[in-house]
Amino acid sequence: MTLDPATLSFAFVLLAVVLGALLLFSWKLNPKVHALSLWGAAFCLIAGGFAVANMGRASGSYSALLVGNALGLLSYTALYGGCRMFNGRQGFVPAMLFGPVLWLVAYPFIYDEPQYRLIMVSLLTGAYAWASAWELARYAMQPLASQRVAIALLILLGLLNILRSGLGVSLTSISWIDALAGRWSSEMALFLVVFTPTLAFIFLSMAKESVELGYKRAAYIDPLTGIPNRRAFMLHADQVLRDEEGRTVSCLVFDLDNFKSINDRYGHEAGDRVLTMFGTILANHLPHKSFGRLGGEEFAAILPIGMEEATDRAEAVRSAFSKAGKAMLGPHAQVTVSVGCSTSSQATVQALLQEADLALYRAKNTGRNVVISARSLTAPQET
Ligand code: GH3
Ligand code: MG
Ligand code: MG
Repeated sequence: MTLDPATLSFAFVLLAVVLGALLLFSWKLNPKVHALSLWGAAFCLIAGGFAVANMGRASGSYSALLVGNALGLLSYTALYGGCRMFNGRQGFVPAMLFGPVLWLVAYPFIYDEPQYRLIMVSLLTGAYAWASAWELARYAMQPLASQRVAIALLILLGLLNILRSGLGVSLTSISWIDALAGRWSSEMALFLVVFTPTLAFIFLSMAKESVELGYKRAAYIDPLTGIPNRRAFMLHADQVLRDEEGRTVSCLVFDLDNFKSINDRYGHEAGDRVLTMFGTILANHLPHKSFGRLGGEEFAAILPIGMEEATDRAEAVRSAFSKAGKAMLGPHAQVTVSVGCSTSSQATVQALLQEADLALYRAKNTGRNVVISARSLTAPQET
């Protein structure tokens, strides 16, 4: 099979433009994923740079090689900027201009030295590819499977560029290695024709995965407090009962005391801050995901522990909330919570919640700011 480098180059340019346009289109559909705009620009820039540099190579044009390689370097900086944006960090940093500017400054001195040009461009593009991989690995905002693949691809891209720069200095006698080291070859073109759509596909997958994770978060996380909502809590509670299969499980129901008067006295915004603070206290005292906001000023937790340990945990939350409330609204503020606790080795989630609710009712009648335990659901009825 003979692969014609000129045909493959043409195919690569067309492919890169189409992929760039698709990434930009995908940005239009998902305007919140701004990284897609820079990644789309990166693919269009590499196509432009490639086309111009190739024309320059054929005609030996001074300005075509200058502009072509500058566009190529800009493409890598856009790639890096997109990775920063994807992680919610500033997309543009002055360091991004370092590569293209260095190229423009150095070019007049090395334009008739193909080896030096190759070394310089390869080292710079390799560095940007590795910086992109580092950015995705170091500052990942969400645990995305496709992001790990993107990191691997960018490391490979950087490695190939760095290897090209090294081989630009000393050619070996191994033909396929020398083919990669050459300024252009059908092996290089074939690699790019396969690699480029793979990278574009992974970027699109990252965007899709991140949007899906956002929807999932919205469905399961309470927007005010940032802790699991009722739906997430009920799902988790069902799972705990299934996992424990007949072992003891305890349920806590928390209801903030006289919360209406906190709103009336300090304002609704202060009330919101108290709710958020209570969510943080739950997160600090209870295992991840074991609790949630049922609605309003009511919260619940489910734990695979006995009554005694559960009431101890509830007591720790109650006391921490009372202290934090005074720190937030002043020493005279009455910011407290009442807690009902139920325990069973057989009951359903609904039954556990109902029993804990009854205990909570008693806690309110006892004068609030207290933890009350229901009798064990498995214990014999009192006579
Ligand atoms: P009790 O001690 O008997 O529980 O009295 P309470 O005032 O806490 O109970 P009540 O059910 O009368 O009032 C609950 C209040 O919680 C009323 C409602 O305005 C307030 N509330 C519910 N959700 C929110 C919220 O998201 N933000 C704020 N600021 N207030 C909320
Ligand atoms: Mg209530
Ligand atoms: Mg209340």
